[in-house]
Amino acid sequence: MINLISLCQNAEKIGISGHIRPDGDCVGSTMGLWQFLSRRFPEKKVEVRLERPSELYDFVPGVSKIVDNEDDVVYDVYFVVDSVPERIGMAEKYYNAAKIKVNIDHHITNEGAGDMCYIDAGASSASELVYDLIKEADPEGEYMDESLAKTLYLGIIQDCGVFGYSNTSSKTMRIAADLISYGFDFPKLIDETFYEKTFLQNKVLGEALQKSVLCLSGQFIYSILTREDIDRLGAGEHDFEGIVNQLRYTKGVKAAAFLHEIPEGGYKVSLRSGGDVDVAKAASAFGGGGHVRAAGCTLKGTPGQIVERLTAQISEQL
Ligand code: 5GP
Ligand code: MN
Repeated sequence: MINLISLCQNAEKIGISGHIRPDGDCVGSTMGLWQFLSRRFPEKKVEVRLERPSELYDFVPGVSKIVDNEDDVVYDVYFVVDSVPERIGMAEKYYNAAKIKVNIDHHITNEGAGDMCYIDAGASSASELVYDLIKEADPEGEYMDESLAKTLYLGIIQDCGVFGYSNTSSKTMRIAADLISYGFDFPKLIDETFYEKTFLQNKVLGEALQKSVLCLSGQFIYSILTREDIDRLGAGEHDFEGIVNQLRYTKGVKAAAFLHEIPEGGYKVSLRSGGDVDVAKAASAFGGGGHVRAAGCTLKGTPGQIVERLTAQISEQL
């Protein structure tokens, strides 16, 4: 395991990034690491370079301090968390220029990168791995407090579906038990970040369910929202989370895909499975990645072409 203290004690500048379109675990793990390192090493410059997360996560300490990618800084240590280095967008130049490159991740498709890595595909979340590293660096919990505990707990619940997905282990539960002992209001956190949707998000979900198509003898379901649909609904990039899970909960379905057209062109594809289909394998075939039951990729082409390619990949595994 990486020792954060020996790794960072001689560094002056420390950088942290997570993947583009940051989700709850990406926010929890990057901000959790940032909170610990900036508290443990107050004299050092510790910075997070990340795409703007959903406003839902504005309460997380550190989110308001995310720096943009305008300047040139050579970091002594650079952490890529919850991602491969190729998926951190504009921040990749800082990773490439950094003196020591570190990769912390739980995606099965990540083979490990950089000078040091802590990759465990058995972990529920990157936040669980950051918890491990903090525990190792600070066994007495001197730098752990209610807000850091809440930040890591946020990341864990988002990636393990509030302990409902198969990536939840007894270790995940033990970590969660330790974190809630710091006293934050966890039922409120779960409601507000996991279950609660805005009126618009529910409308978008409704539209996606209306437009869904069942194929491969009822074993594969997909739904597509084009730019036209998205503009008509008035939806933004943060209004699609949870849709693919709802599609997957259709009786008889073994794999689900949700596609939405993205501003950069092409479609963001989110894939989910109940375990019989390895969607990480399917996503990898298109340059994406993820986990066996949850993965994603970005594809160019018409919706018809994309669906045809996806259906062929899923069909191969049924
Ligand atoms: P989501 O569908 O929620 O965006 O992503 C599901 C899982 O797959 C997440 O763990 C996410 O990090 C991963 N994932 C999504 N899109 C990509 C991608 O384009 N490349 C890689 N490597 N992983 C992805
Ligand atoms: Mn994650």
